[in-house]
Amino acid sequence: MAQLELGAGARIELVRELLWGLDCLECGTFRVLLRPLSAVTERDGECPDCGARRAPRLFHALGESSPFLDRTLSELGVPEGDVLLGRAGERRAAWQLAGGPAAMGRPKPAPRDSQLAVTNG
Ligand SMILES: [Zn+2]
Repeated sequence: MAQLELGAGARIELVRELLWGLDCLECGTFRVLLRPLSAVTERDGECPDCGARRAPRLFHALGESSPFLDRTLSELGVPEGDVLLGRAGERRAAWQLAGGPAAMGRPKPAPRDSQLAVTNG
């Protein structure tokens, strides 16, 4: 989507960090667990194999080589109402995700003069 508007090399930045997955340093395993950081429980942090506390691997941008490009934004844990920033060199674009489940994953262009008000939570 950003690639269509911004051309090659486009990168989408998210306003919050999302969990990519969890690294177990004990077993050396990595498990993908795509969800917002706020939705991760203590229990999720425990390795199912050895019970050790796992380290979260976070991301907050999507680029050409991103492993998440085949996922929808809702699958990645991006909540409705969130703002996305697209960037390709000097060119930038911003979208705000419309509310409502039907609109998830189909960002609309933000009004040109609108301030991007980003709230936490
Ligand atoms: Zn483990």
